[in-house]
Amino acid sequence: MRLGMAGTLYLVATPIGNLEDISQRALRTLREVDVVACEDTRHTRVLLNHFGIKTPTVSYHEHNERSRAEELCRDLEAGKSVALVSDAGTPLISDPGFRIVQAAIERRIPVVPIPGAAAFIAALIASGLPSDQFFFAGFLPPRANERRKRLEELHNVPATIVFYEAPHRIAATVKTAAEVLGNRQAVLARELTKLHEEILRGGLDELARRLSEQEKPRGEMVLIVSGAAPDSAGETRSSSRDLGERVNELESTGLDAKTALKQAAREFGMKRAEAYRLLVAQKNRRIK
Ligand code: SAM
Repeated sequence: MRLGMAGTLYLVATPIGNLEDISQRALRTLREVDVVACEDTRHTRVLLNHFGIKTPTVSYHEHNERSRAEELCRDLEAGKSVALVSDAGTPLISDPGFRIVQAAIERRIPVVPIPGAAAFIAALIASGLPSDQFFFAGFLPPRANERRKRLEELHNVPATIVFYEAPHRIAATVKTAAEVLGNRQAVLARELTKLHEEILRGGLDELARRLSEQEKPRGEMVLIVSGAAPDSAGETRSSSRDLGERVNELESTGLDAKTALKQAAREFGMKRAEAYRLLVAQKNRRIK
């Protein structure tokens, strides 16, 4: 601590399971800062004790984020240094921290990332799905209708899509994803870096079936789904406009509406119900 100078806010990644995944730099930072701000002080204390680190801790979680960010910024302005950690992995990745980072930047307090484990990166690199472009979608909404709507919004994303999901919702999420996105290639990465690590690969239909056979899926999971496929012209194929055009085209060849929709859905790799929903959504957008 140097008088007259603001301290530094360090954003420190911790392991997502295997304690060997913590970096030397993370350990040194946690040892040297004045205080470690944690989502759950008891949880982080176990980690700190494991490495013989005695630095004081303070809680920083979604329920006290606003007030604690202010307090910690005052400490930082007084010259103290703070390390922010979450329960597992990288802080701010589907975890608290955004507020204190914003507040620190506004006050010109230095912000330093100490990178390390993040579940979605570990899952993505082992997935076998394209990793040159990906869309991190975080957690889907918990309510079924909002979850379906969000998946519909993601339908045309041309990059690999990555989700975090809770074990009690995974079966429903994969089933809805199969209905909305079609039978795309997908990966379910469970308990990464832990004893029961498991990486399941297959079509969404197959993953949905396997999950429906499990009584109670367990563990922490990342779901990865391949992006919308480009058509032969290199364009993202499955937009509702293209689908609508294809249905019209087929109808003009003499097919009835139902058969045209069925055939277009098949060509676009979708279920008929999903294609129908897309067309209705498109029509509603035009009416508004
Ligand atoms: N900040 C964390 C990170 O950097 O990955 C994520 C925190 S978020 C609250 C927790 C979610 O991350 C879990 O529900 C799960 O989707 C994913 N996750 C965390 N650890 C995991 C692991 N070991 N294996 C698979 N997924 C994991």
